[in-house]
Amino acid sequence: MQPLRITFLGTSGSVPTKERGLPALYLEYEGRRFLFDVGEGTQRQLLLAGKSPTSIDAIFITHFHGDHVFGLPGLLHSMQLNDRKKPLYIFAPKSTIHRIRWLVHAIPFSPSFPVIWKPVEGNSILWDEKLFYIESVPLKHSTEVYGYVFREKDRRKLKKEELDRIGVKDWRIYRKLKAGESVLWEGRELKPEDFTYVVKGRSVGYFVDTVPVELPPVDYVIHDATFLSNEEKKARETLHSTVREAAEVAKKLGAKKLFLFHISPRYREEEELLREAREVFENVEVAKDLQTVELL
Ligand SMILES: [Zn+2]
Ligand SMILES: [Zn+2]
Repeated sequence: MQPLRITFLGTSGSVPTKERGLPALYLEYEGRRFLFDVGEGTQRQLLLAGKSPTSIDAIFITHFHGDHVFGLPGLLHSMQLNDRKKPLYIFAPKSTIHRIRWLVHAIPFSPSFPVIWKPVEGNSILWDEKLFYIESVPLKHSTEVYGYVFREKDRRKLKKEELDRIGVKDWRIYRKLKAGESVLWEGRELKPEDFTYVVKGRSVGYFVDTVPVELPPVDYVIHDATFLSNEEKKARETLHSTVREAAEVAKKLGAKKLFLFHISPRYREEEELLREAREVFENVEVAKDLQTVELL
């Protein structure tokens, strides 16, 4: 199983605190490096986490609010100073992507590397490789906003004992069966369902900033949890979610684990957040800055 790792770089909402920086999530898989949101201070958080800013392949911006994008100009300017050469893809909501470009170019900036701007619209597959893909999921907030889901593709593995038992040793047959194809072998049809089994791919969803909405099932949920339930009115006014709502989402999706994210600076103690979430969903953590999690 290939390692799939996420690192929380910033976990606060709206303004930073001494303990929490502004939203940014780093994901590593199969030599690829992705960044979701670039809150102010993200490049320093990358350094503290021991992650190279120049290695990032693509950046996915959820929406055009300051706390999620103020780190982008600084990060790009540093990539330029470090003489980055490889292309950088930047995905952002269609209706505001031009404003994000203005933000980057407000100070003269002619990058030494190609910057490829990709508008995001609706539910689409944005990045597709042999082993995984990344898709956008429309969320609901005061401006156009998308959640992003990383999904490892399901894989077929060989039932080696079964194949050995009937004496199949040909790797070309193995390859076809693994691709889900039937094979004719010595007058007999070998079906993939008899000689392979499916290993489900892992998935993680980054869902900020939003009120609770319909979401596709994922194993690991990173969800807006800006307020406790006693501030539900405030959550509705600002189009955010409460901790209880985040827990209800994780439960409904049948998730393995929930990370509470985009924590309001008013909450300094994790305990009260965890208490409220655990009334609904047991396997929950409050995401912490510079925390790396291996997703199994
Ligand atoms: Zn925010
Ligand atoms: Zn926002």
